[in-house]
Amino acid sequence: MTLDTSIEFLKGIGTERAKLIANVLDIRTVEDFLHFFPIRYLDKSKVYKIADIKEDNLEIQLKGRITELQEITYAKGKKRLSGKFTDGTGTLDLVWFQYSNWMKEQIPVNREIYIFGRVQEFNHSFSMPHPEIELEDKKSAEERLRPIYPSSEKLTKRGLNQKFFQTVQANIISQIPHLIEENLPVSLMKSLKLMSRQQAYLNIHFPQNADFAKHADRRLKFEEAFFFQLGYGLKKNYNKSFTIGNPFPIVGKNFNNFYENFLPFELTNAQKRVLKEIRNDLKKPIQMNRLLQGDVGSGKTMVALLAMLLAMDNGFQSCMMAPTEILATQHFNSIADLLKETDVKVRLLTGSTKTAERKVIHEELLNGELSILVGTHAVLEDIVRFKNLGLAIIDEQHRFGVAQRAKLWAKNKIAPHILVMTATPIPRTLAMSYYSDLDVSVIDEMPVGRKPIITAHRREKDRNSVYGFAKEEIAKGRQVYFVYPLIEESETLDYKNLMEGFEHISEIFPLPDYNTTMLHGKMKPDEKDAAMNYFAKGKADIMVATTVIEVGVNVPNASVMVIESAERFGLSQLHQLRGRVGRGAEQSYCILMTGDKLSTESRKRIKTMCETNDGFKISEVDMQLRGPGDILGTQQSGMVDFKRLDLVNDGNIIKAAKETVEHLLKIDGNLQLPEHQSLRNYYVKQYKGKNKWGKIS
Ligand code: ADP
Ligand code: MG
Repeated sequence: MTLDTSIEFLKGIGTERAKLIANVLDIRTVEDFLHFFPIRYLDKSKVYKIADIKEDNLEIQLKGRITELQEITYAKGKKRLSGKFTDGTGTLDLVWFQYSNWMKEQIPVNREIYIFGRVQEFNHSFSMPHPEIELEDKKSAEERLRPIYPSSEKLTKRGLNQKFFQTVQANIISQIPHLIEENLPVSLMKSLKLMSRQQAYLNIHFPQNADFAKHADRRLKFEEAFFFQLGYGLKKNYNKSFTIGNPFPIVGKNFNNFYENFLPFELTNAQKRVLKEIRNDLKKPIQMNRLLQGDVGSGKTMVALLAMLLAMDNGFQSCMMAPTEILATQHFNSIADLLKETDVKVRLLTGSTKTAERKVIHEELLNGELSILVGTHAVLEDIVRFKNLGLAIIDEQHRFGVAQRAKLWAKNKIAPHILVMTATPIPRTLAMSYYSDLDVSVIDEMPVGRKPIITAHRREKDRNSVYGFAKEEIAKGRQVYFVYPLIEESETLDYKNLMEGFEHISEIFPLPDYNTTMLHGKMKPDEKDAAMNYFAKGKADIMVATTVIEVGVNVPNASVMVIESAERFGLSQLHQLRGRVGRGAEQSYCILMTGDKLSTESRKRIKTMCETNDGFKISEVDMQLRGPGDILGTQQSGMVDFKRLDLVNDGNIIKAAKETVEHLLKIDGNLQLPEHQSLRNYYVKQYKGKNKWGKIS
């Protein structure tokens, strides 16, 4: 037997079964079978008591005796076998729907036995269908943990049950240990206390005890995380040595003048840390590729501005791009405002910039007079040329495609440094893996004095008091959002809901005391802008909207957001929406309206929103609920194609693997040292060219 042997030739399989297994489980070779891991183990050393059974669907072992056994006719021509089992603490019904006479005679009555199976609840009493039975004296002493493999009804029906998988696996395991080659350096296994690869495979299938199973699991997960990180690490080093960047060694007059005289507030520690990380990158003659993650309101703009001033001190221009005109204009306004007392020149370029202004921008970019350009996609047009673009900042990375970013690179002979900013926090484990080729900086602290938004869950019966509360806030001069769901599949229905909502709100909050405006995706861009500006200027008290306001305008005076049918929104969407309030000095509120019946998942989402304002915590819960693939979107789901590694729960292992790889590559960037040859060979053989994870920037 070798690892490549087809399973067809294994004892107990044969052509037919091999075909079935290949079809259903995608297992073809001995090696595939070895990688068919148990989903859990059955601990045969644990004996449960009937009196302790509180929930169904529990897979347990009991010790006791069958006191009665009889055949029952329960429907025309249908019989089942029914037994009473007792262990002295209670009784449990045993049932067999399929059985033969032979089997019936084999069932031991009034003898000490172990039974084992899954408990089900039926008519308020517990039963165990098709239990496995073992006589007490025959019970093997050494067997403690039994592997349970993922299986399916289809396979079980055709005799491919747990016993089958266990037998085949035991057969393989007994024959191939010498074929399992070690692929990690011994020193590394020692320092990380990792089990050998051979031991790991033996113990993942047939662990000596629970502790061994855990160690085997850790070793196999580490291996996966390690080679994944190694792949990225090797690529990254390669890229770094070839993508030259302009070094910015100087901290000069523009940065210092601004920092000392015009900084309107003290930077948070997180902002300081992130700025240091950026400065360290910019010192080097290597292109920076950094992702700046920070929740809405964490102060990314200030960090971006300081980085642009550094570029300027080193004789370079910067540009900053946002995905929409509204956002670009906002960035421009806040940056221009911060710089108004300095002599740094900044301009805005969007689709609606007038020709005359455009001409000036083009000229000033070319002669170097203009230091900072803020804009939309308009910045990417070929006609926009820089004298020496040194730094490009991109806000909200997921809205810009790779091709568009490449255009930015090409705007200078030596590629500009790239800083990508996102307000959509993703879980750390995901960032560590997904962004292995980008360096990640995180602002995980809000400026002091920010009042956390108070979030509450309300139902239909509370509707009037919610309206009453909104009226109180409006009376204080505040503004209110009412948000309705918009899900593409039912766009017409949602549109109807929105229109009805608008009418309803206009009745509850009637003119002339209240003024209500509306914003939705079917409006033309200039209509949207008009509605938004109307609200932003305070001419309307209430904005009825769909999720189009998710990434949108800053209206600091808006202090209440009511989200209708909140159970229909995803967590990250709710969080993004909520970020539209709490932008001013006033206490803000987010009210999540839902129906009375909620699924477990919706309840968890609503509860999470009420408990925390921390985008990173929310993203962790989101990943637990939806899984990492969904969070990144389908096109990236290939990256979560791990055999054992679990991005939700294995943060520590991923972190350890990442650090190990970084350390290793610092010493030996291209794995040239003799002691790393086997590692390199294994990587080249197993992983190279196979990993589907593309570059981000
Ligand atoms: P975002 O990360 O969402 O882009 P902004 O950069 O727009 O956040 O900052 C949100 C608000 O917080 C702005 O009004 C900004 O002036 C303010 N701000 C940023 N940093 C600080 C700080 N360290 N202390 C106080 N206020 C700050
Ligand atoms: Mg921002």
